[in-house]
Amino acid sequence: MKHATDRAHAAGAHQKQGLKQIVKRSFRQGLKQMLAGTYGLRGTEPGLSVLMYHRVSHDALLSVPPDVFEEQMALLARDFEPVSLRNAVERMGRGDSCNGCVCVTFDDGFQDNWITAYPILDKYRIPATVFVACDALTHGTLWFYAFDNAVFGAAAGEADLTAFGLGVHAWQDAAGKMDAVGRVHARMKQLGHAERLSIVQAVAGAAGGGRIMMTPEECRALAASGLVDIGAHTVSHPILTGLGDDDLLHEIMDGKSMLESMIGQEVALFSYPNGTARDFDDRVVDVVRRAGFGAAVTTIPGLNRAGANPFTLRRFDVTPGVYTGWSGCFSRGLFRSHVRGTLHAVTQKMTAAL
Ligand SMILES: [Zn+2]
Repeated sequence: MKHATDRAHAAGAHQKQGLKQIVKRSFRQGLKQMLAGTYGLRGTEPGLSVLMYHRVSHDALLSVPPDVFEEQMALLARDFEPVSLRNAVERMGRGDSCNGCVCVTFDDGFQDNWITAYPILDKYRIPATVFVACDALTHGTLWFYAFDNAVFGAAAGEADLTAFGLGVHAWQDAAGKMDAVGRVHARMKQLGHAERLSIVQAVAGAAGGGRIMMTPEECRALAASGLVDIGAHTVSHPILTGLGDDDLLHEIMDGKSMLESMIGQEVALFSYPNGTARDFDDRVVDVVRRAGFGAAVTTIPGLNRAGANPFTLRRFDVTPGVYTGWSGCFSRGLFRSHVRGTLHAVTQKMTAAL
């Protein structure tokens, strides 16, 4: 048991930490709004913009609330040219311009993509691609989401992971919780695959949890809609660069064929799990190409200009942090700048200048 003064000290440290985070966040938001207002709103960087979503729901990690998602889709339909990623890749392959085009994508295959997002996409006739990890559909969840829900789902505002050497993480509000999630993920990414998996299983295995991913039938129905393409996202969502050759082939090639038999259609697009520059390399890209995919997306932010490598396409992550203004509400200006790539370009220039 902790000594009372230790607890008081810890509580003080957490308040301090919370205040620091609020000040940092306010500064970031202020800077972003200033940049968007000063430089971003009118300009459009040339290139294809690909947006990455995960969930569309209230009060869940990696989520955009349904009402905000609808505002975003209405804005895309009005101010941009929404196209399917398949179509954009074909156009870029022919050397045609995709300036002003935007593609909507979702990673992992969450059930709310079908139940909540699809009716909104249909209302505004916005094509989309949903990248699915096959095992997640079979099991109803993904290990690391079960981990996040087990650790961060509690209302307590604190996650004690000292038993796993990952420290204590506290939060005061939803944004603070996302910061805590980011810190824990960053620590976990430094661990070896086996060690990370054993921690995830120790935490999430005990917690259990219900289905959060689509069923195979829902995935088939989504593919049959004609508005949404299903893309592959491996079998079990591993970090591909850490795998041996046999496992790499299994995750990419079998992931494609399993998905194709699940939906009864060819699967031509791929998304690298985690998707940062460290999560794929030439060996991984070569297997993706040999598996017969026509293009693959990363999570590296940026626009895709003419002549971009179709196997390392960039995407902008749409999280509450990138569209929430001073008032704490959805900011059309920030979102528009984010989609146009101006916010990213200006932030990069500012970072380089500092
Ligand atoms: Zn994923």
